[in-house]
Amino acid sequence: MADKAFASSADLAEKEQTLELLADGVYALTAEGDPNVGAIEGEDFLVCFEAMATPIAARRWLARLREQTDKPVRYLVLSHYHAVRVLGASAFGAGIIVTHEKTRELIAERGRADWESEYARMPRLFREPSSIPGLTWPTATFTDRFTIDLGGGRGDLVLQYCGRGHTEGDIVAWLPEQQILFGGDLVEAQAALYTGDAFHRDWAAGTLDRVAALAAETLVGGRGAVAYGADACAAAIGQTRHFLDVMLAEVGAVHERGGTLSEAFAAAHGALASRYGRWPIFEHCMPFNIERPRIWTAQRDREVWDELQG
Ligand SMILES: [Zn+2]
Repeated sequence: MADKAFASSADLAEKEQTLELLADGVYALTAEGDPNVGAIEGEDFLVCFEAMATPIAARRWLARLREQTDKPVRYLVLSHYHAVRVLGASAFGAGIIVTHEKTRELIAERGRADWESEYARMPRLFREPSSIPGLTWPTATFTDRFTIDLGGGRGDLVLQYCGRGHTEGDIVAWLPEQQILFGGDLVEAQAALYTGDAFHRDWAAGTLDRVAALAAETLVGGRGAVAYGADACAAAIGQTRHFLDVMLAEVGAVHERGGTLSEAFAAAHGALASRYGRWPIFEHCMPFNIERPRIWTAQRDREVWDELQG
């Protein structure tokens, strides 16, 4: 039996990117399970949500967006610190880069290690990695809520912290009038969860409760298709919660009886594979989902992978 290729290192087939107009001046770009991005038009400016892995990758997205609007990017909102969502930031020319305060701390603490880790795990997303000028630093941070007045009768865009989840500093972007939610990696729609930096219990309970309480009618998750309608939004949140609940139960039971990491991996993988095994990045993520070391490095990634998937 051949060993499984490390993480997503063998996933080299180009994904098709689809630009969707969610409402007047509200855009999402999805890509068959690759990280989603979005944009919201203000009266005379743009807010972009997520930055992709490199400036060159981001420029492709911006070229698509420029077919719709030539307004300058005033705000770049980053939902959390992960490299594949932030390192393309320089392409946007944004005056203001907004994150949660905790995200700034995570970038300082582990941004460099995460860059190397994610590059090895998902090399295809790092289109022309030499175009990355360095770590991305926010120029504005907040702890609970940050409201952007879109002007011209377009209402507000509300950036909101819902509690610890996929990382310690995830935020969502919410358009209350249109009931459109950009959930970042706090919600996945038909894509597997990555929980290597996660606070599983908080995420599965209060954090997802607060996301659900927004009662979105349209939801753009971190990966996967756009969810249209209240039922589809609830299903995406429900799937995310179920994935976490199963992991908590399976890994918790092995831990309780003093089992090994391999046993915990086998139990969680076995319980989730029938429902989620064919979804994007499932096999890639699972070995990194079982325990939460303080910081993932490229070297630690390999050791865990070889132990559990090799
Ligand atoms: Zn992430």
